[in-house]
Amino acid sequence: MIVKKPKLLIVNPHPDDGEAFCANICAQAVRFGWEIHQVLATCDEYGTPIVEFKGKRIQQIRKHEMMKAAKAYGIDSYGNSIVKLHWMNYIDGYVPHNRTAVIRLQNFILKLDPDVVIGPDPFIYMDGHVDHIAVGKNYYFALKWMNSKQRPRKMFFFQSLMPDFFLPVLLEDKNTVIKARLAHKSQWSSNEAKLLEFFPLFLQLHLKFKKGFLKKMEGYRYVKFQSKDHVPKGLARLIFVIFRDRPIGCEEDRLLPGPEHFGLITEPEDEIFNKIGKSTINSF
Ligand SMILES: [Zn+2]
Repeated sequence: MIVKKPKLLIVNPHPDDGEAFCANICAQAVRFGWEIHQVLATCDEYGTPIVEFKGKRIQQIRKHEMMKAAKAYGIDSYGNSIVKLHWMNYIDGYVPHNRTAVIRLQNFILKLDPDVVIGPDPFIYMDGHVDHIAVGKNYYFALKWMNSKQRPRKMFFFQSLMPDFFLPVLLEDKNTVIKARLAHKSQWSSNEAKLLEFFPLFLQLHLKFKKGFLKKMEGYRYVKFQSKDHVPKGLARLIFVIFRDRPIGCEEDRLLPGPEHFGLITEPEDEIFNKIGKSTINSF
């Protein structure tokens, strides 16, 4: 009897979010032979302080870095990355949250039919980037509007301040995780990439006592569909109150010439599968 491999989908606002928040689950899934997909809402079109690089130039650089990060988790016998990438082609800082965007993501999830899905937490978040909130809301409603039989078996949020599922970080994945993070070299120096190891300890409460030892964990929150599930409590409440009205870096980028200036379209309507890159075609 052939046992079907579990399928994991990670829904990311930008290239590098998967590596910042979900690198350990990705590395473990590769090692256990799972089928893994990352869908990326944008390609970081404003992800550089150098104005001349904004737009298509940084888009190309970031796409290349994301493909390198995907390969860092592992490659098949043809040299293709095991982690398959899908691009939604929204523009950095301009991801829409509307019915069309929700349905577009929902159709993609239904067609891919993952067993486990992870996306940004738009409710109890530690990152106020507009795209993280927009993608998080699209992700939440895409799942909420499915009937319960259509939904993936396990659904999680990343970047949550109230994690309730903890994945132990394994020592054997350490080098893979660092390599995948370092692939995003236009975004992080090697020291910053190393700091990412500790950053979740403070912000995602990745430490948990287990059998008397303090163990490092990657923390996620189960997706639930009642409003009361999303009310920040405890430390989450404190951080929410402190940070909710703070201006954030990406807002400055929105004062620069808009996406049209760079020849970019903000609301693609095509089915995501039509826009998949070379690395995905093999899997369908
Ligand atoms: Zn991001």
